[in-house]
Amino acid sequence: MAYLFESFAGWKAYSLEKKMALPEVVMEYEQHQRNRTREEIIEGLAKALAVMKDAVRTGLEEDMTSRSGMINNGAKKVYRYPTPVLSKEFQQLISRALAAKEVNSCMGRVVAAPTAGASGIMPGILFTLQDIHKIDDEKIIEAMLLAAGIGLIIEQKASIAGAVGGCQAETGTAAAMGAGAIVYCLGGNTDQILNAVAITIQCMLGLVCDPVAGLVEVPCVVRNASAAAIAFSSAQIGLADVSSVIPVDEVIEAMGEIGASMETRYKETALGGLAATKTGQAISKKVLIRDIEVLPDEQ
Ligand code: SF4
Repeated sequence: MAYLFESFAGWKAYSLEKKMALPEVVMEYEQHQRNRTREEIIEGLAKALAVMKDAVRTGLEEDMTSRSGMINNGAKKVYRYPTPVLSKEFQQLISRALAAKEVNSCMGRVVAAPTAGASGIMPGILFTLQDIHKIDDEKIIEAMLLAAGIGLIIEQKASIAGAVGGCQAETGTAAAMGAGAIVYCLGGNTDQILNAVAITIQCMLGLVCDPVAGLVEVPCVVRNASAAAIAFSSAQIGLADVSSVIPVDEVIEAMGEIGASMETRYKETALGGLAATKTGQAISKKVLIRDIEVLPDEQ
């Protein structure tokens, strides 16, 4: 049944034909492809959820200063700031996404969902959703299965790697996975879920991968926060039955086409965009010199 995860249309058709919810199809696929039991799959997802929760907590409670110094406890500052720009929940969403990603930038334990560079997006979304709507872990685990199906198709049809398709492929995919999960948890139907996925990618098309000094810190950490916000905005639109107009499979094809035509300097090479700015170059030089100085001591 691998063909199912080559397109959203195939996934939807199979789910309709077999009268199975979208996450159930992913469960069947996982059992079939990986030769694992339902219990083992659920246990694995529960473990991943626990790691995500811990990453958010760590990022909000412990010192998060990266070796380069570019990441310096931003999540905590946002979390504690007295004035929410929109609402307390929005402030929490942003700080949780930042927190989990900061843990990754500081070499802590995260879940690559779908990649380490985008590891703050799903935790930020899931725990904020859970908090606001009192959703139990069981439902969240179903939503994670659904999100896995979304990531799988995007990987097949385009890419989930910044080095292949730019940041749209990495943070864009995570945001699309999150948007689908939100709509699913709030009772949305298949079309609403797929519209939310399509709208999310539409909002993130063209985003380049340009990490300063080649470190997954700037702009990666703040992009995790904005991607989480886009996921909620797209879920709100999709849930209200607003169409993406361009069907989701075509949107992903557009993402693949944009990724393929992107110049290599925008694909994690740290040769373009923010990495190529005057400040970006100066930081890069400093990081390199520090690494060279550290080398003799380490030998
Ligand atoms: S800028 Fe590149 S390295 Fe950073 S999150 Fe985006 S894709 Fe990943």
